[in-house]
Amino acid sequence: MSVITETRSTCCYCGVGCGVLISASGNQITGVRGDPDHPANFGRLCSKGSQLHLTSTPLIQAHRRLHTPMLRQHRNETLQHADWNTVTALMASRIVSTVRQYGPDSIGFYVSGQLLTEDYYLFNKLARGLIGTNQIDSNSRLCMSSAVAGYKQSLGSDAPPCNYEDLDCADLVLIIGANPAYAHPVLYRRLEAARHKRPQMKVVVVDPRRTDSAQDADLHLAIKPGTDVALLNGLLHICLWEGWIRQDWIDAHTTGFTELRNSVRSYTPEYTASVCGVKPEDLHQLAEWFYKAPASLSLYCQGLNQSSSGTAKNSALINLHLITAQIGRPGTGPFSLTGQPNAMGGRETGSMSTLLCGHRDIQNPADRAEVAAAWGIDTLPDQAGSTAVDMFEAVRNGRIRILWIVCTNPAQSLPAQAQVRAALEAAELVIVQEAFADTATCRYADILLPAASWGEKEGTVTNSERRISRVRAAISPPGMAKPDWWIASQIGQAIQQHFPLKKNLKLSYEGPQQIWNEHRELTRGQDLDITGLSYAMLEQHPQQWPCPTGQTSGKPRLYTDFRFQHADGKARLIETPYQSAQDKVTPRTPFILSTGRIRDQWHGMSRTGANNAAFSHQPQPFLEMHPADMQSRLLQDGDMVHISNQRGQQYWRIIGNPALRPGLLWLPMHWGEEYVWGYEDGQTAYGVNTLVSPALDPQSRQPELKYTTVSLRKQEFP
Ligand code: SF4
Repeated sequence: MSVITETRSTCCYCGVGCGVLISASGNQITGVRGDPDHPANFGRLCSKGSQLHLTSTPLIQAHRRLHTPMLRQHRNETLQHADWNTVTALMASRIVSTVRQYGPDSIGFYVSGQLLTEDYYLFNKLARGLIGTNQIDSNSRLCMSSAVAGYKQSLGSDAPPCNYEDLDCADLVLIIGANPAYAHPVLYRRLEAARHKRPQMKVVVVDPRRTDSAQDADLHLAIKPGTDVALLNGLLHICLWEGWIRQDWIDAHTTGFTELRNSVRSYTPEYTASVCGVKPEDLHQLAEWFYKAPASLSLYCQGLNQSSSGTAKNSALINLHLITAQIGRPGTGPFSLTGQPNAMGGRETGSMSTLLCGHRDIQNPADRAEVAAAWGIDTLPDQAGSTAVDMFEAVRNGRIRILWIVCTNPAQSLPAQAQVRAALEAAELVIVQEAFADTATCRYADILLPAASWGEKEGTVTNSERRISRVRAAISPPGMAKPDWWIASQIGQAIQQHFPLKKNLKLSYEGPQQIWNEHRELTRGQDLDITGLSYAMLEQHPQQWPCPTGQTSGKPRLYTDFRFQHADGKARLIETPYQSAQDKVTPRTPFILSTGRIRDQWHGMSRTGANNAAFSHQPQPFLEMHPADMQSRLLQDGDMVHISNQRGQQYWRIIGNPALRPGLLWLPMHWGEEYVWGYEDGQTAYGVNTLVSPALDPQSRQPELKYTTVSLRKQEFP
């Protein structure tokens, strides 16, 4: 009889980062329960986390897992099984010859917030240090880059100042552009418990949909999609007009007040209400609560970030915290929630094309020199690489010739799918490193690399509150599957043979701890300094950064001395003029299409889609519409509709939902091409993101996944 073991690890879904205890017998995961000692969840798990064993065990997923490397010499051939030596030699040869012929920027890496920090660090080193390119970007670009840009320009550092304890002691919680009841469920349960204990706590939700989070709120402002900046400027205007500001604090700790005050003069309650489609008295109530509450906290996520003005939305919200001095104290602060389990780890290791490891700056020669010296090489590339959407455009037009995709599914998740698919077709070599063999992106692979999955690999992740937790292996990966860091290391070493000038670049490691130790050293003296931590300390207790040498635990809250990370210690009040979304509502495209999450599915469903129980909440794909809009178009629940715009056309089953604003259509983000009815030519059915706008925020380069205009008509079938 097999012994049942229990292994402490971390959930692989959302950015709450709940601790789990994995039960395993033999080489099968048999159960999961919440870790009662983990400070992110204290034993709680949501429906996704509590069913991890149903989606991650090799027994259930065996037929979908990649067990061996696979390759083909030509696109029209079928992929054949191969061994690691063969694919390693082939990849090294193709990458080296392409770099020699077309330069380092002809190689692109598209990585993922699902990777562990150690994986992220090594891919970053491989791209920038060995190949010599900044063409490495993460799918975190789709969820967090506006939050990064907003924190950096306003507070001087990409560092969320808050922690989960702030939910327990806030007096006002403003949830804007987020639905934590579905997207961060364990955190939302904590908020519910705090409200129960402290009935004086107020919760306000700003969202075009009356979500489950909005349903429970004291006040819900159902704004017109995309008007968040106007709303936040309107709140600033009211605070200034009413004297609900902390002038002494502003003078001591910020710059830019006069310019900001002048910039919001025109955002009167009446004007703002007309732009945002809300009541002036609700704006007034929110401004008053926000200022007068002893502690005001804001929680935000993709509704602010996934926008062509995502950075402005982030900074406008931070402005509100700064003029009311609602920051740096328990229960206060602008708290950006991360979507993926290790979006934060990617930011720490600099695994986006515009960042450098340890929160350093690519544009800063001293920062580049410091990293190059630590890595034993002469220089690092100084030009920022392509960001996610731009990277696929660079592939499509031939500037990037080899694309190495790691642990993500861009053939489902990126906007404007027809262009993404065209890029994958156009690439000279597509390498896909994946646990599962059947994602939409795998179909375009010339080389498939079998990766270990959750429950099979070791390392660390960092959650929304800057807390680093250990991820541990409970079982071994199937067949020849390997941890992502191992794959980067092996293929990197094979490439290195051809670049003698890079011989001192360390790419061989005993294991993830050695990689993490190197990453840790590169944080020394930086705002995220973790030189006081070790794997041994993290085994005992997950810790927040920063935790410099000499400290025994991390810092729970930032800016408690009101010194910000800009050189003068002051935060910046940023002018954020409102600009409408890039897609326009017209008589031909009168509906705004927005995407979001349903409760029990995760991203593209490569894991949760294998769990039948996950479909019991929402069994089928659907498109939501307000009942008044349905009535005006003679539609009933269950009717098929045809939606289209310049990017494509699709069919969806429509259902009415009075929780939407009229004029808004809402589509869960999870459905891939296998769930979508498109035209028979196969060009238009690429899943939810076919029609979605690729418009980008000019600073963060994050795409506008929440605002796409479409036409809609009823589809009659013979
Ligand atoms: Fe996992 Fe997030 Fe659910 Fe926690 S809240 S169990 S991290 S999905």
